[in-house]
Amino acid sequence: MLVEHVKDSRRVPSSHALAGKKVWVPRMAAGTARALAAVLRSIGLNAETIPESDAETLELGGRHTSGEECYPLRLTVGDFLKILKKPGTDPNQNAFFMPTGQGPCRFGQYVPYMRALLARLGYSGVTILAPACETGYSDFGEASSLYVRGAWRAIVSADILSKLLLKTRPYEVIPGSADQLYEESLDELCRTLEVSYKSNPEQMEALQRSLQNIRTRFRALSIQFDPQRPLIGVVGEIYCRLNTFSNNELVRRLEEFGAEVWLNDISEWIWYVNDDEFRKMQLQGKSFSLGALGAHLRTHFQHKDEHALISLFKEDFRGHEEPGDIREILAFAEPYLPPLGANGEMVVNIGKAVYFARKGADGVIDISPFTCMNGIVGEAIYPRVSRDNSGIPIRNFYFDGTQSDLERDVGIFLELARSYKRSRSSSRTLPDLPAETRHTRAAAAQSSG
Ligand code: SF4
Repeated sequence: MLVEHVKDSRRVPSSHALAGKKVWVPRMAAGTARALAAVLRSIGLNAETIPESDAETLELGGRHTSGEECYPLRLTVGDFLKILKKPGTDPNQNAFFMPTGQGPCRFGQYVPYMRALLARLGYSGVTILAPACETGYSDFGEASSLYVRGAWRAIVSADILSKLLLKTRPYEVIPGSADQLYEESLDELCRTLEVSYKSNPEQMEALQRSLQNIRTRFRALSIQFDPQRPLIGVVGEIYCRLNTFSNNELVRRLEEFGAEVWLNDISEWIWYVNDDEFRKMQLQGKSFSLGALGAHLRTHFQHKDEHALISLFKEDFRGHEEPGDIREILAFAEPYLPPLGANGEMVVNIGKAVYFARKGADGVIDISPFTCMNGIVGEAIYPRVSRDNSGIPIRNFYFDGTQSDLERDVGIFLELARSYKRSRSSSRTLPDLPAETRHTRAAAAQSSG
């Protein structure tokens, strides 16, 4: 639904190249994509999430790429073409949202590649929208700052919802109830985000109200907590880690095999990109420039907003606290990949694997696309990380759209995680749960015996 009655100063002007076009947001993480589309609607754009990937995605992506591109790019090509090839679609009326950045790997090439490919296929009228940190996210004219603030709040809120789901679903009493509540919560979050508020504080108040409602409903959901379940931290390449189609629903399979999953969220990547931006400014002698001032202000407000939203879940996320500062993660990575010498997701993944181990995880999985540079570098380093952290099992899972015996590999990995859990002297901090949900299998077995 396109939001009506948006105040002029807070919307993309009708002269803007995107006005009247359909803006498609990729489903890297389905919940975050929906939340971001809602924010785009709040500034007057007609935004929607790209439909879920399927066999046609793989077929189109495979047909129009050479096979040497990264798997996430192949999926993105397939998803875009699926929309453009739909009968009646006017390519000139469509825009695709594509995050970009300057990293050490092929990620920075996605946008130029996509533009060249679409032009070659006769779709040169399609807009590729690539907001980037380096350009100050200025793609929406005067509405840009509004978008940046709203998008950040949307990312943090969607991360919170995902965390609620993953902490609840393994313990649900009624199968499917956590997924259903998650979908309803996401609907509520998107309804809140797509409104154009008079001010940023007004939007924050509405968001906090929504999240409090959602929190109440999650707390009321019937669960049977079991501290014997191994906790598995999941790191890896951002797209493959979060996009359930690309990783064959690995998180759900881990849960089916008896695990609880702690998934690295999107906010952490934004913190890393921000930190990297400051580091580059320092290297270029621009630490006291106007650009640096803008970046400091943006970071200040991001911290403030994140705290205002996450602090509502202090009890719920007990034992699952994210690091207070990305530098904590970078410090954990330092002995293996010095963050000043290495760059990109591999640094965050190594640091977070150590963080998970210290927080009491029983195993760590790195999800990466086949041939991903970050995954390969991480795989070479994880044995040392494991040795330095009491032998915690760490394993890479690679995906490229072909079938593999995933269930066998998941089963073997979880056996390792279980025996690691049994051998450990310390255990993780457990969440603050209402008394009636603190049943354990052991307690249940005792009372029945
Ligand atoms: S992170 Fe991996 S999959 Fe993503 S662009 Fe870089 S090399 Fe490719």
